[in-house]
Amino acid sequence: MSRTTEIFVPLDALHEPIERLVSRALGIHLRDVHAVRILRRSLDARKAHAIGYRLRVEILKEGEAEFLRAESPRLSWPKTVPRPRVVIVGSGPAGSWAALRLAEAGVPSTILERGKPVQPRRHDLASVQRGRLDPESNYCFGEGGAGTYSDGKLYTRTKDRSAVDGVLADLVRFGAPPEITIESRPHVGSNRLPKVLSALRAFLEDRGVTYKFSSAFAEVVSHAGKVQAVRTRGGEELAADIVILACGHSARDVYLWALNAGIAIERKGSAVGVRLEHPQPVINHIQYGKAAADERLPAAFYEVSAMASGRGVYSFCMCPGGFIVPAATEAEGVVVNGMSLSRRDSPFANAAMVVSLQPEDFGSPSSGVLAGIEFQRRIEQAAFTAGGGALRAPAQRLVDFLACKASTSLPATSYHPGVVAGQIDEVFPSFVSKALREGLLAIAHRMRGFLHEDAILVAAETRTSAPVRIVRDHASLQSPSLAGLYPAGEGAGYAGGIVSAAIDGTRIAQAILAGAK
Ligand SMILES: Cc1cc2nc3c(=O)[nH]c(=O)nc-3n(C[C@H](O)[C@H](O)[C@H](O)COP(=O)(O)OP(=O)(O)OC[C@H]3O[C@@H](n4cnc5c(N)ncnc54)[C@H](O)[C@@H]3O)c2cc1C
Repeated sequence: MSRTTEIFVPLDALHEPIERLVSRALGIHLRDVHAVRILRRSLDARKAHAIGYRLRVEILKEGEAEFLRAESPRLSWPKTVPRPRVVIVGSGPAGSWAALRLAEAGVPSTILERGKPVQPRRHDLASVQRGRLDPESNYCFGEGGAGTYSDGKLYTRTKDRSAVDGVLADLVRFGAPPEITIESRPHVGSNRLPKVLSALRAFLEDRGVTYKFSSAFAEVVSHAGKVQAVRTRGGEELAADIVILACGHSARDVYLWALNAGIAIERKGSAVGVRLEHPQPVINHIQYGKAAADERLPAAFYEVSAMASGRGVYSFCMCPGGFIVPAATEAEGVVVNGMSLSRRDSPFANAAMVVSLQPEDFGSPSSGVLAGIEFQRRIEQAAFTAGGGALRAPAQRLVDFLACKASTSLPATSYHPGVVAGQIDEVFPSFVSKALREGLLAIAHRMRGFLHEDAILVAAETRTSAPVRIVRDHASLQSPSLAGLYPAGEGAGYAGGIVSAAIDGTRIAQAILAGAK
């Protein structure tokens, strides 16, 4: 029988064959280690004098059968049942994985995407870096969704390991590096993700999936409480038995449609805050100590949290060796987010530092279900005004923010449209900036070196998750308001991140396939 165990491999030994490392670590003879499969790899930098990798390995002895990979059973559409006409709104991970699983089961779909394919989308991202926003093609909208030009972090809190492994295996199938299946914190980088998405599109088109780019969903046409068609903003009508609404958290027009069409939606908690940027060597020093200059070590990562004024204040979407990017979708709003390339070699480390919000923080019930969106929008517009236009963002040194004083100068930053020294407090409601200040202070007390002169806060990080949930039935995953409508992914409030959105798309496809009669 194969056995699994964990071994520690110091950096200096990484070049040695894995069989030898295992035999030495476990004190067993090399001939008893016939083959080794690495299941998980994580950097262990807890002791600066012994930095290395923890490897979870599966070991086979001579004569044992080869490693078996458990494949989860895939459903297929019965030949005797007419195939449903499926329209998917959004080509992000949720929409794409719903299309993938359906196509693999023999059900092609049409994907409506308001933005452009990955290649032309690149030009719009270059423009937005210069302060010119296309509201239909940007960091949130376009092929592959919000995650295409991201850090491509592929870890998730989802407990369903086989679902996670399934998505990672798909990504490898379409060209992502195989190491993502074993890394404890896998990431792809925004230089590689577009190629993966192009390969995914080619696979889907081969199986009859139709992509309609620059084609925005306007409404669902229904009859007798059932989906009948989808109408685009351009007036095209596509007959449909099933509509998967996978439009992401920035499709504010879709939420408005849902509200006006009587589709059940409700407020949902979210979080807002800033991007905190340090020089990467500062974070390397905090995490690796004296070993910080060792070039074999990756750009260091952190994850921090604190309770402040009864709220969670936490880091989110940390991008080592990354860039702060303009992620707005509306004119006169400034939104920041983070991304990195696969090498993670920019001289900066950024992370969202956000304050958790409850639905009641958005205003009294009379302010309506979409009050959370208005809450985000007010902050985004305040950041735009403070930045003085062209997507410049207000920024403040961390030390000044904590001391409640305006910054008179700012250090270099990775945010291309530019930053303007301002008071972060002016952008947020006072309860948010108070909690942010207290939380950052608590974190700085715990983490020596965090309170660095050149650490800056850049505002505003508002699109952390949807402040709205499009309600769905637990069992059928359909909207209780409209048969055949499947709210999916982050925009509908059922995912947060690339992998969990892809898993949610998979679940939607499975629910549809299970309903074949
Ligand atoms: C800059 C950035 C960096 C990020 N980095 C990471 C990361 O490293 N790791 C991670 O896990 N997550 C990251 N995220 C978050 C991640 O991208 C999302 O959680 C994930 O993409 C959500 O998937 P989704 O399919 O639910 O929605 P989305 O990816 O948002 O996709 C929705 C799609 O619907 C389209 N759409 C919207 N409205 C309409 C309409 N009316 N008609 C037609 N199409 C429409 C949009 O154009 C979009 O393509 C990042 C996000 C951003 C913006």
